[in-house]
Amino acid sequence: MNAASEQQIEDVTSNGLLTIDIGALRHNYITLQSLAPTAELAAVVKANAYGIGADKAAPALYNAGCRLYFVALFHEAIALRNLLPRDALVYVLNGLLPSQEQLCAQLEIRPVLNSIAQINRWNAQAQALGRKLHAAVQIDSGMSRLGLSAQELETLKSSLDPLNQLEIDFVMSHLACADEPDHPQNAGQHENFKTAASVFGNVKQCFSNSGGLFLGEVFHKSIIRPGISLYGVSPVRGLQTALKSVVALNASVIQTRRVKAGTTIGYGANFVAPTDMTLATIAAGYADGLPRSLSNRGAAYFKGKRLPIVGRVSMDSIILDVSTLNDDELQLGDMVELIGPNQSLDDLADAAGTIAYEILTSLGKRYKRQYLGTETINLTNEQSALPLAKSTLSASAFQ
Ligand SMILES: *Cc1c(COP(=O)(O)O)cnc(C)c1O
Repeated sequence: MNAASEQQIEDVTSNGLLTIDIGALRHNYITLQSLAPTAELAAVVKANAYGIGADKAAPALYNAGCRLYFVALFHEAIALRNLLPRDALVYVLNGLLPSQEQLCAQLEIRPVLNSIAQINRWNAQAQALGRKLHAAVQIDSGMSRLGLSAQELETLKSSLDPLNQLEIDFVMSHLACADEPDHPQNAGQHENFKTAASVFGNVKQCFSNSGGLFLGEVFHKSIIRPGISLYGVSPVRGLQTALKSVVALNASVIQTRRVKAGTTIGYGANFVAPTDMTLATIAAGYADGLPRSLSNRGAAYFKGKRLPIVGRVSMDSIILDVSTLNDDELQLGDMVELIGPNQSLDDLADAAGTIAYEILTSLGKRYKRQYLGTETINLTNEQSALPLAKSTLSASAFQ
């Protein structure tokens, strides 16, 4: 017997379909750039491009004009470095950790330096190599998460010597409340950032994430680094934008049944059918990124009709109340919508008591993934890929 192809196996085993529209991603990049024409638009592709697949997202963004990329982790940067031409610059938000210096320099990855200790280590690496090294410097303007503290800035103000072997591409900071346009923290952090950035003289500034972009031009600076808005989610809840949804999720019906009033449903038997009901069990659960907090709260959709989740979300399945559908309208193998035209990522996140970021980055690996509009990069001579040792690269780094 012939071995089954991967495609055959996927076709008969998939529990659901995750559709990822790379054309929409491209549209979103171009839309955001047009909303901030004076700034350069970078792309945040950490956590596997928020779960959608950095190997598909980054090349499409490159073709749309993106040359600055941010990841969180060093190994994400290594994987990205191998995907993109040399003129795409890759920055590591989490900073330069001890022992990464040599490889970071070798692979032309650019660290975001988050402390004087990191500046010193990168400067020493430059000295050892006898050439200048590039980096960004992050300032803590009021989030207390990453970046130079006010005290460290004072130290640096008295002498910029620790930077003498470095090319600082830009100074950056991160807003804590950019998704709340009226929050006074935004203006406060803006003031702090302006003052702090002046320590570095006339270097470029990078201040805003998706939310910051929508706070107005004064927040745009030289470079903007959006994440979530590229993936089709408005950074401010309820704000109408021209962004297109990138992700749609449908899950398969694996069983239907009629139950009598009084029947208990799901783990904990904590839902009791108030009347006779028709139920459908779908093949996706919390192991697929549908939070348990959707138990008795969320819903799926079929032909525009809302099908409430009844009982607890299980690891691999969810039970829906499909009583509003006609008899036999929903068949085994039909797909119900979890994210799509009837229910946005935000709607699902609201029902789960979380944010779209968490749903998106948690969407599981068990779905069949369908990519629309993928692109490959056509390299010109000047944009040759870096000659990196393959052994240092892992295609699975994002997973
Ligand atoms: C994740 C992240 C971003 C992107 O934020 P969005 O809200 O997704 O646009 C930008 N900057 C930093 C420092 C981040 O950690």
